[in-house]
Amino acid sequence: MTKRIFHSIFLVAIVVLIVSMAVSLGVSYQYFSRHYDEQLKDEAYYIACGLESEGEGYLQKLEHKSSRARITWVAADGTVLFDSTVPAETLGNHLDREEIRAALESGEGMATRYSDTLTRETVNYALRLSDGSVVRLSDTHDSLLTLLLSLLIPILAVAVVVVTVSGLLAYGIARKVTKPLNRLDFSSPMLHPETVKTYKELTPLLSRIAKQNQQIREQLVELERRRKEFSAITENMSEGLLVVDSNACLLSYNSGALRLLGATPTDPTVSVLTLNDSPDFHLAVEEALDGRHSARQMAYDDRTYQIIANPVYDKNEAVGAVLLILDVTEREARDRLRREFSANVSHELKTPLTSISGFAEMIRMGIARPEDIGHFAGKIHGEAQRLLGLIDDILKLSQLDENSIPRSKEPVDLSAITAQVADRLASTADRRSVKVETKLTSLKVMGVAQILDEMVYNLVENAIKYNKEGGNVYVTLEKEGAKVRLTVRDTGIGIPDADRQRVFERFYRVDKSHSKEIGGTGLGLSIVKHGAAFHGATLTLDSTLGQGTVISVLFPAVEL
Ligand code: ADP
Repeated sequence: MTKRIFHSIFLVAIVVLIVSMAVSLGVSYQYFSRHYDEQLKDEAYYIACGLESEGEGYLQKLEHKSSRARITWVAADGTVLFDSTVPAETLGNHLDREEIRAALESGEGMATRYSDTLTRETVNYALRLSDGSVVRLSDTHDSLLTLLLSLLIPILAVAVVVVTVSGLLAYGIARKVTKPLNRLDFSSPMLHPETVKTYKELTPLLSRIAKQNQQIREQLVELERRRKEFSAITENMSEGLLVVDSNACLLSYNSGALRLLGATPTDPTVSVLTLNDSPDFHLAVEEALDGRHSARQMAYDDRTYQIIANPVYDKNEAVGAVLLILDVTEREARDRLRREFSANVSHELKTPLTSISGFAEMIRMGIARPEDIGHFAGKIHGEAQRLLGLIDDILKLSQLDENSIPRSKEPVDLSAITAQVADRLASTADRRSVKVETKLTSLKVMGVAQILDEMVYNLVENAIKYNKEGGNVYVTLEKEGAKVRLTVRDTGIGIPDADRQRVFERFYRVDKSHSKEIGGTGLGLSIVKHGAAFHGATLTLDSTLGQGTVISVLFPAVEL
């Protein structure tokens, strides 16, 4: 701005200088020219008067007087009668001279002629006498060009001085004008016409800027508040959230999205497709940007994610997309287990029912011999018992699943429960020639007696069932720090390495072919696992094939 003001003032000064010089030169020249012309006319008039009264003798007298002007006397036919500078007879006819012709016609004539170099000009003034002859005065002086050339050096000197002075003045004025403006801080919250000292002409502008500044500050505060609110919501989401524009470039994301996609914090302007290579993820983004709702599952890093992508519209045009990423690994696993469980339950229920139905059909059709009927009834009873046991176990498991067992835990004497279980299973152990030894410290755990009973029962029963003829089962209950450890050890057949993790799954059995004769539903260890989880206990299994198995449950300390 300083520069522009400086240039403007300087330019005006130069223009004023040039114009004023030109005008003053022109006016002076005009003035002096007119002055000369008037003098010439006056002189011509006097000479004319002299000639009229004294004739040529007057001119002879004048020859000896110094006169600036050249005097020529021309007869009416153009013949030069007298000339003050050269002999008259050397001069040709003067009728072709403009001023002579004009004087002959109208009484007087004037004409100006320039020298070849235009440096001098000759003003000729002719006056007709009463006898028809013409007297002419010619005065030669410097032309305007000569005048200009002679004044060139002083003009240039003045111009240099004027240019320098006006340049300095222009700079000073420009600085002075812009100083109060440069001092203004338009972003300052203090910018207000009442607090800022500047030109009063700027007051309306300052008021407007101050008002706009205030509005911008308020909008920024509001924006920041919304950004924080949005980020507080999205950062606390376990789901991943991504917002992209129509070119799939990231506009916004939460850290959950990067965590689930296995991406590192990134520049928000990159393409979202660079965050993960999964084709399903890419398809979901593309479908949403095409304006379609997309819901896809993608497997990544041993986990399953659901991607829900929706287009964002602005005036019926898809301008971007919002993607929600959910970790559905557990849900998927639960769904798979539920499906497998239903299939297993149907299968397990069908087997005894088919036997029951077969034996009953034989009796109904009279195919069975009367002496076999008792045997068949026994089979039917046995299968029905198995069925009842199975349904019982399924019910227990589903109760544990749905947490429908009363949650209120209380101190339960685990040693008493274990002793009772050992008693109840004593006949079973006898039948299989297995010796059950217990070493129980009187200890309590926080829990539900019925579930604890089922857990201990299943563990001891398995230790008997999967034992060898004459084998042993050792059940111990002891304190481990503030915690309580129940250990059931047997000298039985053991569990192969590959099956150790899976025996806690529902309906999983190591030896499916012998399961019928050994009995059991395949749900016992599953009940133990869920029961342990319910009590906050940790379960460990150690087994050596052919030598035996140790399963132990570590209960948390009782807080009384
Ligand atoms: P089941 O009703 O068949 O006993 P469980 O869930 O109690 O079902 O046990 C699952 C499987 O784990 C059993 O079929 C058996 O193969 C194996 N198992 C359980 N306990 C023992 C053990 N103490 N010794 C050897 N194998 C065992």
